[in-house]
Amino acid sequence: MAPVANRTVLAVVEHDRGTVAPTTFEALTVARTVSDRVDALTIGATADAIAGDLAAYGVASVHQVHDDVLTDYGPEAWGEVVAHAVRALAPDVVMASGTDRGNEVLAQAAARLDLPFAANCTELRTGGGDGGGDGDGVEVTRIRWGGSLLEDATLPGGITIVTIAPHAVEAGPAATPGAAEPVPFTVRLDRSLGRSVVRGRVEREAGVTLATAPVVVGGGRGVGSAEAFAPLEELAAELGGVVGCSRAVTNNGWRNHADQVGQTGTRIAPEVYFACGISGAIQHWVGAMASKHIIAVNTDRQANIVTRAGYAVIGDLHEVVPAITAEIRRRRRD
Ligand SMILES: Cc1cc2nc3c(=O)[nH]c(=O)nc-3n(C[C@H](O)[C@H](O)[C@H](O)COP(=O)(O)OP(=O)(O)OC[C@H]3O[C@@H](n4cnc5c(N)ncnc54)[C@H](O)[C@@H]3O)c2cc1C
Repeated sequence: MAPVANRTVLAVVEHDRGTVAPTTFEALTVARTVSDRVDALTIGATADAIAGDLAAYGVASVHQVHDDVLTDYGPEAWGEVVAHAVRALAPDVVMASGTDRGNEVLAQAAARLDLPFAANCTELRTGGGDGGGDGDGVEVTRIRWGGSLLEDATLPGGITIVTIAPHAVEAGPAATPGAAEPVPFTVRLDRSLGRSVVRGRVEREAGVTLATAPVVVGGGRGVGSAEAFAPLEELAAELGGVVGCSRAVTNNGWRNHADQVGQTGTRIAPEVYFACGISGAIQHWVGAMASKHIIAVNTDRQANIVTRAGYAVIGDLHEVVPAITAEIRRRRRD
């Protein structure tokens, strides 16, 4: 889709105390397909550190808001800031990434502005240009029902508020960097907006996480016990990856929910996903389908995951997984 020249996109930068969510760069990549002019909104103390990244992704101006209420994430305060920015800057499209926070903030903003909001879009087709949209409205394709169906919807003309489903596109820098010109933006925020506040943080293990790991070794009911995950841990460590699991595994108490892949777990997008002893139920598949390559290890050649995977090994994972690890080690030694 060619961008529409007179359209402007305001992209809300998601960050946690200055650490930008990688999905923000996916949203900026989509933003450039909608408009020649993409501006960013940074809420709280982050702007200077990421100006270079925003420039690389084609951002023209960075509207920066600072306030004591914004020291940490808070949905009401962030939503209010976005609403103020939309009233003042009148963008055509307001965009964020379709993460929990992105959806929460834009829902807050849309409610305050009394505007419609479409969450978790995978595609936008603008009207009035050559994008195939109808009239002034914007047509979107969005993920529904936890990813089991894609819905086409038309948003009415006026300001369009959308989030982009994580991993719907691959983030890519602009051919021509933007100026990322800093523009201080002042908002008077009522202290009462600090209603939902972060009271504490538990740091998860440092290093790669399930959501960002290049390799995920997933285990399902077929693994059989908590202890039997040890060979999957070894394979993951060998490849610089992490272990994930299905809900059958968390239901059995073999692993923590933080490791669960799927509709009610984490959506992953690694280069390689080993799905071992996992049947590939739809609720698991929607969390794994963005993987670049899937290698299923299963005793059942008819299992869903086997029919959908790029590669499959039909066999007992208790033999296959250690054999893969041993072969990788052997090749590295030789
Ligand atoms: C609302 C809702 C939300 C849900 N959300 C999620 C979610 O987020 N994530 C999720 O995973 N599930 C989710 N589920 C559950 C989902 O429907 C499935 O029940 C679950 O994914 C099944 O897990 P599994 O594949 O490990 O187990 P099973 O379906 O029992 O599959 C086990 C597989 O292991 C194979 N196997 C057995 N032994 C071996 C062996 N020795 N070697 C190799 N292969 C072997 C079998 O052939 C089979 O294919 C959800 C369900 C609901 C209703």
